[in-house]
Amino acid sequence: MTDRVVTRFAPSPTGFLHIGGARTALFNWLYARRMGGQMLLRIEDTDRERSTDAAVQAIIEGLDWLGLKADGEPISQFARAARHREIAEELVAAGKAYYCYATPAELDEMREKAKAEKRPPRYDGRWRDRDPSEAPAGVKPVIRIMAPLDGETVVRDKVQGDVRFPNKDLDDFILLRSDGTPTYMHAVVVDDHDMGVTHIIRGDDHLTNAGRQTLIYQAMGWDVPVMAHIPLIHGADGAKLSKRHGALGVDAYRGMGYLPKALLNYLVRLGWSHGDDEVMSIEDMISWFDIVDINRGAARFDFAKLDAINGHWIRGSSDEELVETLMTERAYLPNGDILRQTDDATVRQRLGAAMAGLKERAKTLVELTESTAYLFAQRPLPLDEKAAEILAKDGRDILRGLLPALEGVESWDVASLEMVIKAHAEAAGLKLGKVAQPLRAALTGKSTSPGVYDVLAVLGRDESLARLKDQTAA
Ligand code: GLU
Repeated sequence: MTDRVVTRFAPSPTGFLHIGGARTALFNWLYARRMGGQMLLRIEDTDRERSTDAAVQAIIEGLDWLGLKADGEPISQFARAARHREIAEELVAAGKAYYCYATPAELDEMREKAKAEKRPPRYDGRWRDRDPSEAPAGVKPVIRIMAPLDGETVVRDKVQGDVRFPNKDLDDFILLRSDGTPTYMHAVVVDDHDMGVTHIIRGDDHLTNAGRQTLIYQAMGWDVPVMAHIPLIHGADGAKLSKRHGALGVDAYRGMGYLPKALLNYLVRLGWSHGDDEVMSIEDMISWFDIVDINRGAARFDFAKLDAINGHWIRGSSDEELVETLMTERAYLPNGDILRQTDDATVRQRLGAAMAGLKERAKTLVELTESTAYLFAQRPLPLDEKAAEILAKDGRDILRGLLPALEGVESWDVASLEMVIKAHAEAAGLKLGKVAQPLRAALTGKSTSPGVYDVLAVLGRDESLARLKDQTAA
């Protein structure tokens, strides 16, 4: 065995990559990258109803989009059932586990008795010392671990500290069901061992499982991996993140127009920190991430913060990168059709020309896409309420006065346009804003947009003049 770090992400297919799962994957991926190790992907697909191809694919696609590629091929837990059985039988042969023939009726009775005595319902160990020759006919046995009766099991958790479980509370739980399929508890341990996992980083809802799983490691004489149970993500109200707080699937966040690097930047700060640093690149995260800096308190999901970080990363992206991002993401954005009004080459060209002005204002790709609508709008442009109002007041008259000056502009660029429009405003005794407002309304159909000189330059002479005439002709 080498000392190489091996982490793993072990999602159960639910139809999407859960946003909390994405953070777990991120922590595992970062730690592996940081340590020059590997992150493996194991699909916990033993629930055959839920583990459709589509559900498995959704997880892989979510990870791909985020750029959290696992090393090697995904491992199917279901496909390893024979190995799980083999280990359970090995434990029986070693005297560390045993066949239990208790019938459902007996188990019910045990539960009722415990309830009446106000004890936690636990298996009473009745087949621990009985010989299988006493087995009742026709009952298929389960395999149970022979858990120590006293003492305690300690999970030395890197986040939670030493967590102690009195062994009397860890009953002889089932490893292999009577149909020969493994329990979740058993499969996880056998898989993690066989995959050479050195570090388990997962949600703290698995902390009690860690106690039971430790018993299996010990029974097999295997090293227990380093464990780090991270606090779950909560909603703004402090309750565990659920549907009512908003989207749970990473694909939904994609549809809301978040950039992967922004989502990762946001997620990494949910439960982990590096001084006061809020904004960090993937490279920063890799060089800074360490398990010991994971916080113990639950993290709260805050959309306003996510938006702010996303806006930061949009502004920080190059124009070319954003154009390419929009061309891909339009398939996932609710308003992506805005970017299909004309042929791709024209879309790219206009986006590229306008991007510097547009990206300053957008917090999401949905907003960014919305702000490009004027570039592709068909004449005559529909006006929103405010734009219509501006033009209805005295806007049209102001534009009529301005038109001849614009028609006379020789070189249609920002500098010349600015000069001509400023000169006209001054000559007409109008504040610049009084001229810019109706211009913007007529050119974009909206009351807000990037700088109006930029809009004119991006649209070009013919389209600009045509849009102005659409409004002044009436
Ligand atoms: N499949 C489990 C889940 O999705 C994770 C198991 C583990 O990480 O050990 O919650």
